[in-house]
Amino acid sequence: MPAQAEHPADEIRRLRRCISDLVSVLALPAIWRGGEPVQIVRALLDTLFAMLRLDLVYVRLNDPAGKPPIEMVRVDRSPELMARQDEIGKLLDHCLGPDPRQWVPLVPGRIDEGDMSIVSLQLGMQGDIGVIVAGSQRADFPSQTERLLLSVAANQTALGLQEARLLGEQKRVAGELDQRVALRTRELAATNEKLRRSEAFLAEAQRLSSTGAFYWYAATGEIAWSAEVYRIFGLDPETPATLDLIVSRLHPEDVAAFQEMLVRQRRESRDFEHDHRLLMPDGSVKYLHEVCHATHDPEGELVYIGAVQDVSQRRLSEEALAKMQSELAHVARVTTLGVMTASIAHEVNQPLSGIITNASTCLRMLAADPPNVDGALETARRTIRDGHRASDVITRLRSLFARKETATESVDLNEAAREVIALSLSNLQRNRVMLRTELADDLPTVTGDRVQLQQVILNLLVNASDAMSEVEDRARQLEIRTARDEGNGVRLAVQDAGAGFAPQGADKLFEPFYTTKSGGMGIGLWVSRSIVESHHGRLWAAANDGPGATFSFSIPRRPAEAATKNP
Ligand code: ADP
Repeated sequence: MPAQAEHPADEIRRLRRCISDLVSVLALPAIWRGGEPVQIVRALLDTLFAMLRLDLVYVRLNDPAGKPPIEMVRVDRSPELMARQDEIGKLLDHCLGPDPRQWVPLVPGRIDEGDMSIVSLQLGMQGDIGVIVAGSQRADFPSQTERLLLSVAANQTALGLQEARLLGEQKRVAGELDQRVALRTRELAATNEKLRRSEAFLAEAQRLSSTGAFYWYAATGEIAWSAEVYRIFGLDPETPATLDLIVSRLHPEDVAAFQEMLVRQRRESRDFEHDHRLLMPDGSVKYLHEVCHATHDPEGELVYIGAVQDVSQRRLSEEALAKMQSELAHVARVTTLGVMTASIAHEVNQPLSGIITNASTCLRMLAADPPNVDGALETARRTIRDGHRASDVITRLRSLFARKETATESVDLNEAAREVIALSLSNLQRNRVMLRTELADDLPTVTGDRVQLQQVILNLLVNASDAMSEVEDRARQLEIRTARDEGNGVRLAVQDAGAGFAPQGADKLFEPFYTTKSGGMGIGLWVSRSIVESHHGRLWAAANDGPGATFSFSIPRRPAEAATKNP
């Protein structure tokens, strides 16, 4: 405060200067806007140093993260002061102790010869941002105006620094966020790429295996198909999948079964498999196999997730294989019967000679005088009986020689065996085979193809007879037994006293083209096994305790009761 009253003109000049300095200080934020704290402090030091003609300005900025503070100092460049930097340091140490509350606002200290007045101002609340120290050797320092300018400058600086810190923090957070976003974007891109690749693999696998995937909401009928299902159905992938669309592609004969399946699955909510055909626009037929798993979505709606496979190729191969097997089976049967031609001829010849003898007797009786009508009638009856016998043999042979599609009928295995025995009797007798039969009374009928099963029995009989053809030291005993099998099926066994086979070699006998006979084809047992298996049964061979072997087969009563419990 001036000691005595000022001249008005001086006062006005002083006030003007003060206002102009105040404006300069207030303009500082515009200069340092957006700048770093160090730039702000530098601008402050320059302004104060020039404006207040100071000998010393010092600013210390605390680091919010606890790092060492930033210190900046500006001193008058006069050689005297430059030479006294240590003293300035001591002075500052003295007035800026560790506790800001203890700081002395005005320290008259001695620098060189003269006193230096020091003013310290805290930046921020209790100096949390830092401190400004201004020093001058002028005797009137700090005047009232200088105090005002210093405190306004300190406030502006504190605000500016706070803003700069906030801005820095914002920049740091934004930078961190940018980094995280970039990292996340890279991760997402990598995941997307992985997903794209695994989808491509899946699509390729679906294409290779001709298997498509789909889901079906049973209640709403909503359906979605993978690209492969569209390909199988020969439809444009843009076409919305609907049940009507599927039905429009179904083979007309399969529509009813498909609709029934839909109704059942809507009601039952169970995993299921379904086979059906497609009739394609070019008239070709595709065979499809579907496997579906019933599940529920998070809302509890029943949804089927399924796979549909185009099995046309497999089906065609299976059909071709079945055809080939049936042709081979026929060849095997005809060959077996061929072997028996002599005895079959004998079988037919016997009733034929009976017919001729009886017809001659009949003629003789009628030509007698008086004619022996009763005797003639009796011999005519015998002629008819023998005619029937011959005709029966021919009928049996015809059915065995004929090549028919596989039939499904009710077969009495005892009856079928008796017919085969009747045809084979002469053959067996010629080979001096003694036949014993033990046919069970309570045998249930089985469902299957009678002629095919007779082929199996015939094959086993011929093999048994062949196996005993060289036996001389014992009876050529052959036994045919039928019995009810466990699980309500039937079993037939043919036991011989022949050469038998090596115990380890049982499976080999059933291999195609395996034969130990000079004129054998080695397909009889292989065909027989495939026939029995097509009846869901089993055919196997066992060495007897004594000489010879026993070949047996078992067949479940109905195809569904597959025989799995046989030894
Ligand atoms: P093939 O009679 O034309 O040889 P099979 O397939 O019927 O063809 O029989 C294959 C082979 O199994 C026979 O060659 C024979 O070695 C053996 N085999 C078949 N039945 C018997 C049997 N009852 N006893 C011993 N070996 C047999």
